[in-house]
Amino acid sequence: MALPQKKYYRQRAHSNPIADHCFEYPAHPDDYDWSSLYPSIKNNDKRVEFLDVGCGYGGLLVTLSPMFPDNLMLGLEIRVKVSDYVNDRIKALRIQHPNQYQNVAVLRTNAMKYLPNFFHKGQLKKMFFLYPDPHFKKAKHKWRIINKWLLSEYAYILADQAIVYTITDVKDLHDWMVTHFEDHPLFEKISDEELKSDPIVEKLYESTEEGQKVTRNNGEKFLAVYRRISDGTAKLKDSN
Ligand code: SAM
Repeated sequence: MALPQKKYYRQRAHSNPIADHCFEYPAHPDDYDWSSLYPSIKNNDKRVEFLDVGCGYGGLLVTLSPMFPDNLMLGLEIRVKVSDYVNDRIKALRIQHPNQYQNVAVLRTNAMKYLPNFFHKGQLKKMFFLYPDPHFKKAKHKWRIINKWLLSEYAYILADQAIVYTITDVKDLHDWMVTHFEDHPLFEKISDEELKSDPIVEKLYESTEEGQKVTRNNGEKFLAVYRRISDGTAKLKDSN
């Protein structure tokens, strides 16, 4: 089976994440049939641990799959044709490479709305926001995938000490994300020194289609990586 061609799956760049699209979602994470996404994973108790939010064409999932064969990874993508592409890409890779890429899948949903329906409290070990839509205009900032309410929702589904990776070529969006993480009591910045030993970090620059586009355009890339700290050690915030 040949890999799908992106030209047949093009869709306009932005989808309104606040609009009421028709999405099916489970009332509870256990109500979802996870075996439909990972058919060859025999252990039904195994849960998704890595989540790529707004995965686009799936480059990160495909890169991380062989690096972490024991972890289930899921990409969330709101655009129907783009999620269809990732689905077809994974199907083709599974056929071309028997026994590989069984740990990756994609789900079409709105990540701003339904995460607690899909994931248990403390389930995720890693979350990725790679080159998220910048929504430049002030009136559209509410569409940004990082804000204080969403960070609380992400903190709920993240495990203690889980890591959130963000990267963007838009300095204003980088500053926005950093400010929101810094202001949130349940996240702390991971130092550049510590990041040097994380094999994932170098993959954030080039493995996705958007990252490759930024490189082609000689754009700058801004990285910010945060740790979900335990509720007991939540940072005290200055209330002023
Ligand atoms: N991370 C990918 C990459 O680096 O190539 C894609 C980056 S692209 C600029 C942002 C992606 O996020 C788009 O594919 C968009 O459809 C998706 N997206 C935006 N809002 C979303 C939401 N609320 N839920 C799920 N996906 C979303």
